Amino acid sequence: MNEIPRHIQLSSVGSEQEYFRYPEDIREEFIQTDDIEFRDGSRVTAAEVWEYLTTVGPVKFPNLYDTSNLFTGRLSRDVTLPFTLKHNYLLMTMHERMTKAKAQGHPIVFVQGGQSVDPYYAAGAIALRPASTGIWARRQREGLTRNQDELEGQQDKQKAYNAISFEVCNSAGYEHIQEGNVPADMVAPYTALRCSDVSYGTEAHRHGPRSDQVKLLLVDYPLDHQKDKDWAIRYFADNVRRLIKNIDGLTGRTTTEDDLAREIKLHNEGRRLSVEIADLWWSAIDPPTNGKDRRDLFQLGGMEVHGDPVASLSILREAKGYIERRVRDGHKTKGVQDNAARLFVCGSCVFPNDYRCEEAGGIIVGNDNHWSDITTIINESGDPYYELAKGVLSYPYEQPLPERAKWTVEQIKKSRTDGVLFLYKWGCNTQSAIARLLVDEIKAQAGVPTIIIEDDMTRTQTEQLQNRVNAFIEMVS
Ligand code: SF4
Repeated sequence: MNEIPRHIQLSSVGSEQEYFRYPEDIREEFIQTDDIEFRDGSRVTAAEVWEYLTTVGPVKFPNLYDTSNLFTGRLSRDVTLPFTLKHNYLLMTMHERMTKAKAQGHPIVFVQGGQSVDPYYAAGAIALRPASTGIWARRQREGLTRNQDELEGQQDKQKAYNAISFEVCNSAGYEHIQEGNVPADMVAPYTALRCSDVSYGTEAHRHGPRSDQVKLLLVDYPLDHQKDKDWAIRYFADNVRRLIKNIDGLTGRTTTEDDLAREIKLHNEGRRLSVEIADLWWSAIDPPTNGKDRRDLFQLGGMEVHGDPVASLSILREAKGYIERRVRDGHKTKGVQDNAARLFVCGSCVFPNDYRCEEAGGIIVGNDNHWSDITTIINESGDPYYELAKGVLSYPYEQPLPERAKWTVEQIKKSRTDGVLFLYKWGCNTQSAIARLLVDEIKAQAGVPTIIIEDDMTRTQTEQLQNRVNAFIEMVS
């Protein structure tokens, strides 16, 4: 049995705290599975992962193991899918791993979510998207209960409202750069319009307290039919060259075209694997995993959440075989109801609780944000800068509305979706403006019910969102 720290046990008296534990009877089978490989050539065995998750993790991060309230769902309970344990291991060790990588000379660059990160890694940097920034910052705080962890998260957000603006959603994790919670060397996102939070954050950085220590560089992303204009592709390719040159200025090395071409190939493998896993997953009559694991698997092809593309790729390769077997054997996933209502999520940065959706008779089968860049495979022949720019400027999510709608409808049909949720945070200017137009097109072209829900600014009122989602599940079931 995993030990829960004594001060947590004491603070739990009377509050019926319950902690998730990995069952001992899966250990033998799990430790026979593959090692995780890392970018620096090191490896960790499955036995070491098991040891960490059952002895170190519960002591360092009891909040992640807390299953006692409505927020449940941080760790997947599907323990027979080795992917879930290894993914959790990588998330829990983010602080140690990133600190080590930084000490090995890899600069930390803050980037925009939903974009590929090939050029940052080609130049030897670590591209930290908003979610990963938050994970790193929070993994530095050990021994917190669920409530303590939530309160600290709230306090971080309040600092962001003060430092950036109260008009934005402040989900992008910029406060961790502003406060120096993670040792970023550069703020250098693609300036795709999708996220107003990143726009406000980068602007605030110009006069922020760390602007003299953390370099600002914008990778200028042209808009409006950008993928069809040769000048726009060349212009963005030049921006990527400038980005790589600036990272080279930090590392002291010279990144070559071959370095970029190699990195594109590596990331393409991740993107292809996620697309193949999605095709398998969607082909099954019964969902082969729960919704949380589906999202983690589909999104891992972006290879940026763990700050180590080699590690992400290593667990994704192994996971594909498990999904193939589950689909072939007609596996039924615990907690997912027969004939569950299949939901597709559009918009940015809001997700209902997968387990609560499944209890209500639904399951989330896909989402557009981030899937857009993963489904875009970069051409591996020719000038890597030009081909990368061409691919990045063609992301469906960043296209004018008719094209974004057309691609979204294709995903909805492939995933056999019964209903579409468009979700966004308060303060998300672009997605809130486009929501009505997009769902009207989806309804007209796919003929499925849709709903738009704006989420509030805090992390504590998730029930507001969930009860609306559950009512929608009831409607489409
Ligand atoms: S909800 Fe919108 S504005 Fe906020 S971080 Fe996400 S994309 Fe950006």
